[in-house]
Amino acid sequence: WLNLEGKVAIVTGGASGIGLEITKGLLNNGVKVVVADLNGEEGAREDGSYFLKCDVTNKESVNNTVSKTVELFGTVDILVNNAGVNLPRLLVDDKGERPEYELSERDFDFMVAVNQKGPYLFAQSAAKEMLKVNKGVIINVSSEAGQEGSAGQSCYSATKGAVISFTRAWAKELGKFNIRVVGIAPGIIETTGLRTDAYNEALAYTRGVTVDGLSTDYSKSIPLGREGKLTEIGDLVTYLASDRSSYITGTTLNISGGKSRG
Ligand code: NAD
Repeated sequence: WLNLEGKVAIVTGGASGIGLEITKGLLNNGVKVVVADLNGEEGAREDGSYFLKCDVTNKESVNNTVSKTVELFGTVDILVNNAGVNLPRLLVDDKGERPEYELSERDFDFMVAVNQKGPYLFAQSAAKEMLKVNKGVIINVSSEAGQEGSAGQSCYSATKGAVISFTRAWAKELGKFNIRVVGIAPGIIETTGLRTDAYNEALAYTRGVTVDGLSTDYSKSIPLGREGKLTEIGDLVTYLASDRSSYITGTTLNISGGKSRG
């Protein structure tokens, strides 16, 4: 039904979490997937994907990944800008004062580099290939935080808001070349990225809860009454990558069980 057989995709940050699930969804539908991630060994993988070591914040690394993909598989039909980092930090504490656990300038720049510059560099590089054949799809992974703003995660929210703006602007620039640009904005989805000590420590400070506590509170506020499943993200991205969604561009779809307005 989706007719994705033989298409070529790059999934950034595809080695774990949401990116891994997106990779699986595309592989299950016959797509040749290049996983572009910091961590992993270069080459063909057991699941059928191909791994290229890549740092999305580095232009040379991004360009090399796109060139190598074209060398190996001939083209880039689908780009999924998924790699992202979240370092929750408060702007002010409960007393309205400068928090002891504040966002350093270095961490601010790091989040902007991975979440905002990375997608830009990749879109720039992949679009050049898509323009050769006047066809392609770019899918940007934003976040509910980027649509709604999330307390204790303002820098992260801003980078994810930027991704929503990229989606709108690139759709306008690339539409006449038959290249679609779509965003997705997930609510909280259980991944290893949420299970690091650093994330938990930051959550405890910014919200006074661990990931488990946050999940329980958060789930109660979701109209569908539960967190999203990774497979639900994979299914949505697979649909958006296919021609079945051929009239959707410029928009960011929230996938949060009804929690955010979109
Ligand atoms: P994750 O930490 O499990 O996976 C992120 C992947 O990106 C990792 O494999 C990591 O190695 C890779 N990565 C990080 N920096 C990179 C870089 N500079 N270059 C290349 N690869 C890099 O995270 P996740 O929870 O699966 O998140 C994936 C995306 O989904 C992110 O953009 C995140 O902001 C977004 N998101 C996640 C949630 C959630 O609840 N998990 C909700 C909304 C949006």
